[in-house]
Amino acid sequence: MQHNALDQALRDLQNLHAIILATGDIWAPGVPVPGHLTAQLRQNKRAVRSRIAQSSIYVCPAPDLHRRSWSYRGGQYWCADCARLQKHVS
Ligand SMILES: [Zn+2]
Repeated sequence: MQHNALDQALRDLQNLHAIILATGDIWAPGVPVPGHLTAQLRQNKRAVRSRIAQSSIYVCPAPDLHRRSWSYRGGQYWCADCARLQKHVS
């Protein structure tokens, strides 16, 4: 699995139960988000948005619920549940 600094930051945010919005912003009401994670996302908004578009597991907002739908395809891990939800909102 490719594991760069951005993916690590996204995983850390996931562990904080922060949600990454389609805009690449963080939505984490009542959660203290460490500044370096915010900075990491701000600097990589394009990459973050493309991970969302690809339903990457790194931006899956509900890893506990979705994990069974995670699989490996086209060189990356993606979440089928997120892909299905994305179809509904877009
Ligand atoms: Zn998901």
